[in-house]
Amino acid sequence: MIWYPYQQMKHMKDPYKIVDANGVWLYTPDNRMIDSISSWWSVIHGYKHPVLTDAIRSQAERFSHVMLGGLTHEPVQKLSEKLASWLPGDLDYCFFSDSGSVAVEVALKMALQYYVNRGDMTRTKILSLTHAYHGDTFKTMEVGDDEDYHFILEAYGENPNVIHVPTEIPALEKAFEQFHEKLNCMIVEPLLQGAGGMRMYDISFLKRARELCDRYDVLLIFDEVATGMGRTGNRFVADLVLPDIIVLGKALTGGYIGHAATVANHKVYHGFYDDDPGKALMHGPTFMGNALACSVAFKSIELFEEYNYMEKIRRIEAVTRREMNGFTDPRIKEIRMMGGCVCIEVYDPAVLKGYQQFAYERHVFSRPFLHYLYAMVPYIIQEEELVQVLTAMKAWFTR
Ligand SMILES: *Cc1c(COP(=O)(O)O)cnc(C)c1O
Repeated sequence: MIWYPYQQMKHMKDPYKIVDANGVWLYTPDNRMIDSISSWWSVIHGYKHPVLTDAIRSQAERFSHVMLGGLTHEPVQKLSEKLASWLPGDLDYCFFSDSGSVAVEVALKMALQYYVNRGDMTRTKILSLTHAYHGDTFKTMEVGDDEDYHFILEAYGENPNVIHVPTEIPALEKAFEQFHEKLNCMIVEPLLQGAGGMRMYDISFLKRARELCDRYDVLLIFDEVATGMGRTGNRFVADLVLPDIIVLGKALTGGYIGHAATVANHKVYHGFYDDDPGKALMHGPTFMGNALACSVAFKSIELFEEYNYMEKIRRIEAVTRREMNGFTDPRIKEIRMMGGCVCIEVYDPAVLKGYQQFAYERHVFSRPFLHYLYAMVPYIIQEEELVQVLTAMKAWFTR
């Protein structure tokens, strides 16, 4: 018996059974559909990409996994070098883990211990955003702010060490004024808040956050698990505003295997680099630096560079804007677009009920949640396929 995610099992309709996948297409035994959400935003190169499949196959013929404690290997070395040169600034020190949630945990642990290592036990608070989503493990739930995911925390009461601010500069300034002496870090999903409702905000907020973090010696963490590798129309939002720690996941391996990275800058790394063994980072997921994952992630980055993916993403955004131009409906609160993400927010979630089957019949796989009908397509999508996805979304309201 499979216990499916985010589902009341008692009411769950049968999920679509996938028997094959190729490019943007998912195949069920009797239908095919475009994956309009890239398997939770990760499969940016599409399915069955020959280069990625080959990267995994050839590594599996050597070895699939060895532990990173006391051992190392070429795939993890190549990936860490690639990330260090590919990421902006001095984001050079790569700590690997098996999922985005764990990688966020590692970032938060780094930030706290950075101060503890300096003998500062008072900086215990974390600043995060309202509607934030950073994963489903306990600490990530606490820094998150979405009742729909994290309501069980009610049983514990609010954590006094987490402060949530909206994405508005005056509120940010006020929070820093009030708490700066106690803050160890600020964590954000930069520019685009994903699971909290595809909320988009302005870069000026992040620029101000960087200034305030500098002024008050607070570490800035970008959770780019969802936004990294082009989704916002920037390679990384970190290209625009440089954080102290960046977290990557989801698309890191092109969606082929779960893996994630927490990449720190020189300042953070040197907060641990010491003669004292007690100042080491005490963390080590069993499957960190998995050789299959590192091999495929390395190739994924090469493809991204070689085939000018940023241009593909600009094209997706342009086509999306063209297709959505002037589209309205009284049930729609807002249509938001940024890079390779489009979201139709409705006033009443009941409006979206039945959309998944409607889309299926139009050869599109979609998974609306709460008030949000969205698409985050694989970057290799063809224009007519993208139009098919957007047409299905619009047709739901005009049917
Ligand atoms: C999905 C997501 C995570 C969690 O990643 P998992 O691999 O599901 O643990 C964390 N942060 C953000 C912004 C995400 O979108």
